[in-house]
Amino acid sequence: MAEMHDATEEYLESILEIEEEGVTPIRARLVERLGLSAAAVSEQVNRLVEQGYAELLDDRTLRLTDTGRALATSIVRRHRLAERLLVDVIGLEWEKVHREADRWEHAISADVEAKLVELLGDPATCPHGNPIPGSSHRVDTRSSVALTQAAPGQVRVTRISEKIEIDDEAIALLARVGLVPGKTASVVRVDASGVVVKSETGEQTVPNDVAKLTFVAPV
Ligand SMILES: [Zn+2]
Repeated sequence: MAEMHDATEEYLESILEIEEEGVTPIRARLVERLGLSAAAVSEQVNRLVEQGYAELLDDRTLRLTDTGRALATSIVRRHRLAERLLVDVIGLEWEKVHREADRWEHAISADVEAKLVELLGDPATCPHGNPIPGSSHRVDTRSSVALTQAAPGQVRVTRISEKIEIDDEAIALLARVGLVPGKTASVVRVDASGVVVKSETGEQTVPNDVAKLTFVAPV
């Protein structure tokens, strides 16, 4: 049953990404992230526990087992390598690659993964700036802060949270404004409606919910 296999991988990937954001993985976070009902999430989580991929602790936290973590890490790695391939080699628009890679990640074998690492030069991050697990290149994230915390002046975009990548409207906005990892922009001011940013495309307001998941470093 290919579909069930994909669901397992999808859940493991989501748990790892929730952890990456420094958030405790519980079922409610999966409900929000996957846009599914609480009942559907509970059922699939029970399946992950039965399969030995995760444990449900007394405080309702989901903890990946070693097997679960290894599988989750390989899915995240394949997703981010697929995104790099789609942007760097195939030339797909930055705002479209996340959804496309969501389908590719389940189809990449270990052999193809190794070839991708070679072909792409063992990249440190995906096109959204998220680190590729297992890469021999390190990313320095120490100087990055959320756009909502940035001081006025020039900044360089370093990373867009995976949580934003599944929000089509937010990702299209960032692409339009030019707030893509590697690009620079100028923070004008932070006000109640969001962060006013000046880039190649002019002055625009990035709403707070998007700005707090967009990370920048001073230039
Ligand atoms: Zn990405």
